[in-house]
Amino acid sequence: MGTNKIGLLLQQKGATQPCHRCGQFGFTVLNGFTNFILQSNFRDGVEVEGASVPVENVACDNCGAVTSRAVGALGLKLD
Ligand SMILES: [Zn+2]
Repeated sequence: MGTNKIGLLLQQKGATQPCHRCGQFGFTVLNGFTNFILQSNFRDGVEVEGASVPVENVACDNCGAVTSRAVGALGLKLD
């Protein structure tokens, strides 16, 4: 999945507001995705093989704040 396509998808969904931290408008879609690993409790330590949510990340070009969005909600498939 190219970063340009992700940027276009975000525009189409109206995700065009300025940075929530500094108010600037320049962003970079990071190449690659990360996983949010879901935890059911913390009594047994951190589970690493359970359910997870793959997310794409966008970094503010000014302050570096990173925001993440679920890949599935954008209609993207990981190949
Ligand atoms: Zn910022």
